[in-house]
Amino acid sequence: MHEPSPATVRCVGLGRTYRGSRRSEQVHALDALDLTLEPETITVLIGPSGCGKSTLLRLIGGLDSPTTGEVRIGNRTADEARQAKQFGFVPQAPTLLTWRSVRDNVRLLTEVNVKASGKASSTDADVDAMLAAVGLQGFESARPSTLSGGMAQRVALARAFVLGADVLLLDEPFAALDEMTRAEMRRLLCELWTAHRSTVVFSTHDLNEAVLLADRVIVLSGRPGRIIADIAVGLPRPTPEGLEDSSAFGEALREVRAALRAAQHQTTAQHQTRERYQTTVGGAQ
Ligand code: ADP
Ligand code: MG
Repeated sequence: MHEPSPATVRCVGLGRTYRGSRRSEQVHALDALDLTLEPETITVLIGPSGCGKSTLLRLIGGLDSPTTGEVRIGNRTADEARQAKQFGFVPQAPTLLTWRSVRDNVRLLTEVNVKASGKASSTDADVDAMLAAVGLQGFESARPSTLSGGMAQRVALARAFVLGADVLLLDEPFAALDEMTRAEMRRLLCELWTAHRSTVVFSTHDLNEAVLLADRVIVLSGRPGRIIADIAVGLPRPTPEGLEDSSAFGEALREVRAALRAAQHQTTAQHQTRERYQTTVGGAQ
């Protein structure tokens, strides 16, 4: 068999069960999930809140261990890939260090990476070029507290992309931003991705965002998260003027929306079954 690319992500029979708040309770966040993500693609995970999007991203990034199955990044385990610094991560809140300047926040992980993996350090010029690429030229010495939410998330994107990571994991990164800023951030992400071509996995609960960004949309069902639709989209990126009025966009949107409705329907049905069960059990006591 040929060697997989170091940027191929493979999830095989992936499951994660958490202990619930009551001692006997178990929360099945993900169940027997099989998924292969090809290099140089953007995959968007969408599904009802609590369906396991963040869990899946954490498992891919080696930040958590699966209960069943495994994740492979190329021919490494997720943990080995994490140690080899193959991941960049952009969370919902940018988590910048308030006492460091914008430049030093972006540089921080590259410093850590040099020590851990022996990869070449990003120079100040690399960091400043990345800051210019995300539109933050002139803010290199600013403190995070002086930035708007959108600017802070630009710093988080710069911090992730400057690493040159094989796989970028973005967990609802634009959820806290207003619609206009989100559109700008989408454009920026597309530009950065075009220049760097990492394997991107992006979670969202926003349909438009999913369809506009994705080569492929994975719709997850309510807990336990299972893949209920795998939809190839691949609209032009960055989004050209008028794309949102096109029939291609409309069709993709309808397809993802229908799958998402099915996912939500499934979640509601599960809740009703659980409530009925609890009522029955409660009534018998
Ligand atoms: P999403 O990101 O799609 O909203 P999550 O992956 O955060 O979903 O969570 C999936 C399910 O697993 C939820 O029901 C959540 O409450 C549960 N869960 C997530 N992390 C933990 C944890 N550390 N301990 C217990 N339950 C958790
Ligand atoms: Mg989440």
